[in-house]
Amino acid sequence: MSATLIDGKAFAATIRAKVAEHVRHLRDEHGLTPGLAVVLVGEDPASQVYVRNKGTQTEEAGMASFEHRLPVETAQEELLALIARLNAAPAVHGILVQLPLPGHIDAAEVLNAIDPAKDVDGFHISNVGLLATGQKAMVPCTPLGCLMMLRDHLGDLSGLDAVVVGRSNIVGKPMAHLLLRDSATVTIAHSRTRDLAAVCRRADILVAAVGRPQMIPGDWVKPGATVIDVGINRIPAPERGEGKTRLVGDVDFDSAVQVAGAITPVPGGVGPMTIACLLANTVTACCRAHGLAEPEGLTA
Ligand code: NDP
Repeated sequence: MSATLIDGKAFAATIRAKVAEHVRHLRDEHGLTPGLAVVLVGEDPASQVYVRNKGTQTEEAGMASFEHRLPVETAQEELLALIARLNAAPAVHGILVQLPLPGHIDAAEVLNAIDPAKDVDGFHISNVGLLATGQKAMVPCTPLGCLMMLRDHLGDLSGLDAVVVGRSNIVGKPMAHLLLRDSATVTIAHSRTRDLAAVCRRADILVAAVGRPQMIPGDWVKPGATVIDVGINRIPAPERGEGKTRLVGDVDFDSAVQVAGAITPVPGGVGPMTIACLLANTVTACCRAHGLAEPEGLTA
């Protein structure tokens, strides 16, 4: 048996199209343009690529993009002052501070300085609490993207056994809360979990968010399970030439695809959904800020 591929690239394109449609509606009916401010401190090359992609896709969706690039030596107070200005700016509906921040910056203090209503990354402690208590929150983009793919593929998730491997604040924990909210029976596994193989084999839904290349082999996957591979790991690929690398997930795709019912590839699975969900969250934030109906299918 070979699993169905869940095509995150194509699905993300449909999400972006829905976002663009709602942006047109907001402009034509309400004279509003959702705006996303992205703050980058320092010159981390990967972060620069992410920020550039975010800006491009924001504009392609018809929204306003505000980029703030600050030098690596920026002081905490300066960054907090910028956040305060963005919190007060009516044209800005979403604020994202690109992580990681330089070591001298207290990331938690910065993230918690963002107005929770503009916190499109969903990392503010208020949004974390709202999500954990099943209330309306801004939901972190990567787990939101995973949830959208699961709902699209499986429909109703209630009663399904879901195992999330990884308990980080940005992926594992919010993913588990979202699955719980959709009435799945959720297990969170981590580095201290005993007999991880047996835990994974119980899963109708297996979400891997670990950061270890190909650590979950096919024989840990329950036949027919839906596998969402969040991991992005770069490994050497000598078959492509000297010094070449390639991206792989946390799941050993070649063996898992033989067993699973459906699986996300890496690249082209969860990855493209993250920015699409960032755009979706920005539209949602704009609607909430103006007391307007939220777009359907773009929130948790
Ligand atoms: P973290 O490093 O913050 O968390 C990793 C988690 O994996 C921890 O909870 C850790 O457990 C657990 N873990 C580590 N080793 C093992 C093991 N041997 N067995 C079981 N669990 C283990 O990572 P993130 O959550 O930030 O990211 C996870 C992966 O997802 C990365 O590859 C990252 O690149 C990718 N990612 C992809 C995104 C996208 O697609 N857009 C966005 C964000 C992340 P413990 O807590 O016990 O240490």
